[in-house]
Amino acid sequence: MSAIITPPKFEVAPTPPGFEGPGFFATTLDKAVGLARKNSLWPLPFATSCCGIEFMATMASHYDFARFGSERLSFSPRQADLLMVMGTIAKKMAPVLRQVYEQMAEPRWVLSVGACASSGGIFDTYSVLQGIDHIIPVDVYVPGCPPRPEQIIDGVLNIQKLVGEESLRRRNSPEYKQLLASYGIE
Ligand code: SF4
Repeated sequence: MSAIITPPKFEVAPTPPGFEGPGFFATTLDKAVGLARKNSLWPLPFATSCCGIEFMATMASHYDFARFGSERLSFSPRQADLLMVMGTIAKKMAPVLRQVYEQMAEPRWVLSVGACASSGGIFDTYSVLQGIDHIIPVDVYVPGCPPRPEQIIDGVLNIQKLVGEESLRRRNSPEYKQLLASYGIE
């Protein structure tokens, strides 16, 4: 007897706030661009240790990262807009991570996955960077050692929320320029 396969459920992305009437829908450019951006993030996985293995599980069929429009991983910083840092970052590796971030075009977002990337984790030693936010700005932190795939997905959903609500003017604002300047990034 063959097993009955239930088709996967697809959810339509919710419509952004706007005005609706017979045959028309009007919203702001910010909201329309935010909707497109948040559902088509191209992540660059910067995985250096065990948290990267959790990310591999997140990409695989059981958790299926593709459901969030992010199945296209980019190993080229210039074609990525979400930097996912997963694992211990040694101080020797810090300039490389920083260079990858600088090579990404705006708008770009950063997700720090796990205790090591966020704070150095258990490695409170001379050779380990005590959190990537010492060298690049971070948008969302995912706690855990390692975080489960559900937590990584939760982190990406939080990034999507930020992306969807971000003003198109933010990247040119004095506050954002000041944030980059505080990291010595032009
Ligand atoms: S947070 Fe834990 S699981 Fe993740 S890289 Fe560090 S030691 Fe490994």
